[in-house]
Amino acid sequence: METSTTPRTESADVIDADGFTPVRIKQVIRETSDAVSLVLDIPAPSVDRFRYAAGQFITIRATVDEVEHRRCYSMSSSPAVDPDLRITVKRDRDGLVSNWINDSVSVGDELHVAPPEGRFVLTTTEHNVVTFAGGSGITPVFSLVHSALATTRKVRLFYANRNLDSVIFREALATLAEGNNGRFAVHHHLDEIDGMVSTEHIARFIADSARDNTDYYICGPAPFMDTVERVLLDTGIPKQQIHLERFSVAAIPPTDATEPVVTEEVTIELGRSTATAPYRAGNTLLQTARLAGLKAPSSCETGSCGTCMAQVVEGRARMLNNDALDDDEVAEGWVVTCQALPTSRTVRVVYE
Ligand SMILES: Cc1cc2nc3c(=O)[nH]c(=O)nc-3n(C[C@H](O)[C@H](O)[C@H](O)COP(=O)(O)OP(=O)(O)OC[C@H]3O[C@@H](n4cnc5c(N)ncnc54)[C@H](O)[C@@H]3O)c2cc1C
Repeated sequence: METSTTPRTESADVIDADGFTPVRIKQVIRETSDAVSLVLDIPAPSVDRFRYAAGQFITIRATVDEVEHRRCYSMSSSPAVDPDLRITVKRDRDGLVSNWINDSVSVGDELHVAPPEGRFVLTTTEHNVVTFAGGSGITPVFSLVHSALATTRKVRLFYANRNLDSVIFREALATLAEGNNGRFAVHHHLDEIDGMVSTEHIARFIADSARDNTDYYICGPAPFMDTVERVLLDTGIPKQQIHLERFSVAAIPPTDATEPVVTEEVTIELGRSTATAPYRAGNTLLQTARLAGLKAPSSCETGSCGTCMAQVVEGRARMLNNDALDDDEVAEGWVVTCQALPTSRTVRVVYE
């Protein structure tokens, strides 16, 4: 496990070849029996690179049982009100890193962290905000709520959990609701009492809220997010006002079975280097670049952060998951290479 306690030199901004910085854990806060918050002690020379917007996430590289893993965790802190950067990690049943963090990390341990990224952020300074969180999806939403309340906006939260014991930030949310002159309201939905979240629950929640000048933010388990998004769209809320943060990769879309194509080689341009490599079936473009000896940029490796984006300038590729690029970028041939599989005989990819 990566828990070294060697003294840190703070005279320089330390970044390794993959863009990760060693960061000490300043505080560990047990939120619920299955969720823990870590307050990170960002070294002074790295502070500028670790500035973030509410709703963004960092990538952690953890070595558990001598194997390296990367996972993304959203900040539950808000730059508007919190001096330190904090993440909150909920156990994933049988999950490796989330359980390791919940069970094994302590104050003074060192994690390797890549700087904040993500587009699940407040896009205006004046729109009211309606948020939907399920389980661990509260983390970026809690950050957004704080930042929105630091202005004059009104904020509402629909927060779904299995039962009362699993509600992260229950007291803090109650305090926010009491202390903001009616600008914040939270609706707790508990599956054990109310049943699973349905379209009716969501429709009822948004029934009396004004829709103009309002942005909607959704984060939680995939079926929860799909239900909320469907109701919002069916109600006529424009897609641009709906913001989604997915913690897990969506189901792999099927290939077009009528046109099976075997990719033979991939050419990759990165800076001044160009490499052409035979394609190994099943590899992503990022894996292909690495096998070709190129040090391609990457961070979350779940299609969320966009660090590994590159443009397919010849041939085609399909993405297994894309939570980073917008429709215009995809139309121009941009892909997140960690999630992109080539689908033409040859492919040429150019990193920025
Ligand atoms: C942008 C972003 C932000 C995120 N923010 C947060 C956050 O703020 N808080 C938070 O708690 N999480 C967050 N996550 C999720 C987090 O990154 C991890 O995915 C989560 O902690 C689970 O990681 P793990 O290593 O514990 O689980 P993993 O070991 O990756 O396992 C995940 C699930 O897959 C199952 N699984 C694993 N291997 C197999 C297999 N071979 N066959 C079948 N099933 C398998 C496991 O049983 C488990 O249920 C975020 C994710 C993203 C992309």
